[in-house]
Amino acid sequence: MANFCSRCGSLVFPGSDSCPSCGAYVSGESRTKQRSLTEIAAQRRPAPRTVSEEDMKAPYLPYEPRPSQLSIISDIREAMDAGRHIVIESGTGTGKTIVSLAAALEHSKPRNKKVVYLTRTISQSDQVMRELKAISSLKRVTGIAVTGRGKSCLLMRTVRGYESLPPQVLSSLCEEKKSKRACPYFNTLRDHMAEVESFCLSEFPKSDKLDEFCESLGTCPYEMKKLLMKGMDVVVAPYVHILSEDIRSNLLNNLDSDGGNLTIVIDEAHNLVDAAREQESFSISLRLVQSALDECSTIRGGDAMLCDGVMLVPFITHLKNLMRSLATSKLGLREKEALLEPRVIEGSFFSKFSIDRHRLEMCIDRLQDIGDNRTEILMERGENRVSELFDLAVALRSWMMTPDEKYVRTIKTGDDGEVLHAACISPSDVTSFLRKTKGVLHMSGTLQPLEQYVRTMMLPEDTVTRIYPSPFPKENLKVVYMENVTTQQKEMAADPSISSRIHRYIAKMCNAVDRNTLVFFPSYRMMHDLRPFLEEYVKKKLYWEEPRQLRRTMQSLDAFRKGRDGVFFSVMGGSVAEGIDFPGDELCFAIIVGIPYPPPTLESKAMSDMFDRMYGRGKGWEYVSVAPAVRKMKQAIGRLIRTEEDRGMAVIMDKRAARYVRELDCSVTRDPVGDVASFFGDQKV
Ligand code: SF4
Repeated sequence: MANFCSRCGSLVFPGSDSCPSCGAYVSGESRTKQRSLTEIAAQRRPAPRTVSEEDMKAPYLPYEPRPSQLSIISDIREAMDAGRHIVIESGTGTGKTIVSLAAALEHSKPRNKKVVYLTRTISQSDQVMRELKAISSLKRVTGIAVTGRGKSCLLMRTVRGYESLPPQVLSSLCEEKKSKRACPYFNTLRDHMAEVESFCLSEFPKSDKLDEFCESLGTCPYEMKKLLMKGMDVVVAPYVHILSEDIRSNLLNNLDSDGGNLTIVIDEAHNLVDAAREQESFSISLRLVQSALDECSTIRGGDAMLCDGVMLVPFITHLKNLMRSLATSKLGLREKEALLEPRVIEGSFFSKFSIDRHRLEMCIDRLQDIGDNRTEILMERGENRVSELFDLAVALRSWMMTPDEKYVRTIKTGDDGEVLHAACISPSDVTSFLRKTKGVLHMSGTLQPLEQYVRTMMLPEDTVTRIYPSPFPKENLKVVYMENVTTQQKEMAADPSISSRIHRYIAKMCNAVDRNTLVFFPSYRMMHDLRPFLEEYVKKKLYWEEPRQLRRTMQSLDAFRKGRDGVFFSVMGGSVAEGIDFPGDELCFAIIVGIPYPPPTLESKAMSDMFDRMYGRGKGWEYVSVAPAVRKMKQAIGRLIRTEEDRGMAVIMDKRAARYVRELDCSVTRDPVGDVASFFGDQKV
């Protein structure tokens, strides 16, 4: 969420009381008027024309249908009616949110099913609530946007360090307060339920607006949403509500559902696979092991028996020594990670303590019990944190239970010292839940190749796939690639003139147009190396994405968007390349330096091997390297055209783009500077 000054419209960062541009004090009241970048962009776009009578072909579409919208709605509805999954790539301007809602509601309402609409970010959920409100002018429909307790708990936010409390701690604190009737916001729920419900039915508030409304009544927004969601047609929630097994089962409980009466819509689905992998991956850091060991000294007697003569302190000490010795033996001088053989950790415990797998599991169970007791004591003392012994037991159990064929196990070194890492390469929890659910829409503006998505998400065989191109005039977007440059390391090392050619071309192209330009580098390192040349030769106002400096980057971005002849230098896949709208003249020209293949890692290699084994030689490279690179380029190019009137051009500075001409809809250029100048009609070369 970005916040904006009510006086001058500049970006104000969360937690700041004053505007960095005009210095205006940002009061609580004006903060309520703060808007996200997506909202501002939405307001600048021409509003679609609404219809007064429902169109029988799409009874839940409140606007005059744009080209292809009716067929998208009917494709989605038909797939859902048949209980099938549908995976779609839908270009800019197809109205993804409204068509998916219109289709999902048309399918679900007559069947008394609920729509669960999953978004990656809260600002995307705001857009869903806006569209629901538009639909409500045509048909009776209800909806609510939910978030986690961490965002909505009124009681705990007064506690110091509230933001960093783990969800399970917040949850158990909340349960304890509720059971003792010690939370005043919980005790008033029933008194205000009718009032909050009618606010939801008439206003379709964004999640934070609903929180504010509940706060003004002195009642708990989180619990209120739980109560109200049962009666709503649409529940809008962040991804984590299906990715996390615990949160998903709470959601299903709150909806009185076993999944059978749900229609699921997954927005920006291209992010889901990585999010699911991340959710199922985990680590055991040496810092955690050491903290658990320190915690042992606080236990009465200093030690405890785990099982069959295995004592707590030697057990954890062995893990600590093992991690150190694995790091020493496996990692070379400059290496940051190394593969571990299957079951090397378990095997070491077997031989050290002369126990078998069953006994090891018993040791971990006992460790968890001890951790559980410690957590209770910590809570009673008001320390509000989970015992490290408990965390360690949970992680060790996961390490033992997760299957080798779906995990890559490594030892790494990092800021936390040595770390055992189990990276999930094939998420099975969320995929098996989705597989069982009938009528799921997976959609994104950049999801091709769709068959890869279907395979990695292990969707049913009868899944429908569709691609809908952008309805905007094709001539408004021109994409070309250069064939005399590349960022391929081997070629750059063999021919040092490539680097100087790259920066000279960037400078010439930037100077050739009087439009806002974004330059995407493949890495911060390359951007940093070329910066001195670009600062000397690009005769424009220059802005830079700063690594790990989101605040400064957003300030620069804000200034760039206000101007009309600046150049913003950023990194492909960073905060600017995806998720920020640049309507109209805010962005007209993009230069993509190199092909953004993901850097090779042990995990990506294992994933690539797995896909080769499963789907044939070459599929690994295609799925793990090519598809994400093409997707990133399409996301970057997609920043150029957000409305029917926008015109934009992109130049890809890498001859390897010739391999992706069809996917990127691009052609070769031998005179990029002249092409750019003539596209924008500026004869400045
Ligand atoms: Fe927080 Fe609501 Fe739980 Fe009270 S009931 S502790 S306000 S989440």
